[in-house]
Amino acid sequence: MENNQNMQKEARAKRSYAWLAWLGTALIVAGLVSFLIWQPRIAKTMAANYPTTKEVVYQPPADLNENALASLPEYTSPATQPALIREPATHTEADADLRTQPVEYVVQEGDTPWQIVERFYADLISKPADVFRYLYAVYNNNPFLQDNSQNLKPGQTLLLPPVPGVWYKWTRNDTVQSVSEKFSPYMWDPTVPEGFHVNPEDIINFIGNDIDPKDPKIDPGTFIMVPGGAKPLVVVSFASATSASGMKRSPFDGPGACEFNQVAFGTGSFIYPSATHFISGGYFMPGHWGVDFGSGLGSAVFAADSGVVSYAGWLNGGYGNLVVIDHGNGYSTLYEHLSSYNVRCGQMVNQGEMVGGAGSTGNSTGPHLHFEIQSGSGHIDPLSVLP
Ligand SMILES: [Zn+2]
Repeated sequence: MENNQNMQKEARAKRSYAWLAWLGTALIVAGLVSFLIWQPRIAKTMAANYPTTKEVVYQPPADLNENALASLPEYTSPATQPALIREPATHTEADADLRTQPVEYVVQEGDTPWQIVERFYADLISKPADVFRYLYAVYNNNPFLQDNSQNLKPGQTLLLPPVPGVWYKWTRNDTVQSVSEKFSPYMWDPTVPEGFHVNPEDIINFIGNDIDPKDPKIDPGTFIMVPGGAKPLVVVSFASATSASGMKRSPFDGPGACEFNQVAFGTGSFIYPSATHFISGGYFMPGHWGVDFGSGLGSAVFAADSGVVSYAGWLNGGYGNLVVIDHGNGYSTLYEHLSSYNVRCGQMVNQGEMVGGAGSTGNSTGPHLHFEIQSGSGHIDPLSVLP
C-alpha cells in the first residue's frame, strides 16, 4: 500500500517535471520566433546609428543623364603624376627647417581638405580652430578648387604653403605695405577666425623669403610667402531664381531641375534630417558648407522643414544624387550623396517627410548625409539652428 502510494507520488512528480520541460521549451521557441521577427528591425536601427564604411556598388538612378556622366573628367592615377609627395611630418624641430618653402601634394583617393590639413600641418595645429587657417591656405593657394571641397579630386596636385598664408608672385608695383593690406581680408563671415591680418614685418622676417631687413627689395616675378595672409573665400549661392513667368527655377542645371511654384512654406525652424545626429566627417567650415551625418546606407533622410523640392536628381560636381528644398522663407536645404530619392522637383513636402535614402553617390568616401542650409546671403552652420 505504501509502496503503491510512493509510486503514485513519483508518477505525479514525473508528470509535473515533463510539464515544466515543455513550458521551458515553448518559452525558448517563442523567444527565437520573436527574435526572428524583430531581427530586421534591430538590424535597421543598428545600421541607422552606425556609419558603415564598407564599399558599395553604385547603382545609377533610373533617370540618370548619361551625357552628363560621360562629361566627367577622366580619372588619372596619382601614381603617374610626376610630383613630389611629402609624407606628413610630426617632428617640430625637423619642420623648423622644412617650413620655408611650399610643397606639392598629390591628392589621394579618399582625401578631404580637412584630412590633408590635419596630416600636413600636424606639427603646427594646436587647437581645432587652427584648422580653419590652414583650410584657407589650401583654398587660397589652389584656385582651381574654387573654395569648394567637392572640387577636390584624386590626382590633382595641391600647393601647400609652408605656413598658413598666401604664396604670392611679386609684381612691379607691389610694396610690402600694399601686399600686407591685399591679404588682410575683411571679416566677411562670422565663421572666419580672427587674426587674418598681415604685418609688413612678417613678410620681411619670413626666413624662406630671404629678404634683407635693412634693404627690403623684392624682384618682380619672385614668389614670396605672405604669412598669415588670406583671400576671402567665395560662397556659391543655392538660391532659386525667379523666372519671367513668376515661377521659380531650380538653383542648379541638371536632370533634377524644373520650374516650380512656391506652394508650400517652411515653419522657420529645422529638425534633424536623419535619425542619426552623430557627425561622421566634416563639420561646417570654409570649403565645406554643411555637416556630414553618419547615416547608414539607405537610412531615411527627412525634410528639415516644409517647402517645395527645387531639385531632385543627379548632379555633376561631386553632389551625386541631390535633393534641394526651397522653404520659401529665404532658406533652402540640401541633401547630398543620396542612394535614392523619392521626391520630384516641384513637389511640396512637409517637415519630417522622407525625401530619400542616405548614400555615397558623387564625391563621397562612404555612406553619409551631407546636409547644408543656405540662406539668402550664404550658408549657415546647420548645427547652430538644429534643436
Ligand atoms: Zn560633406
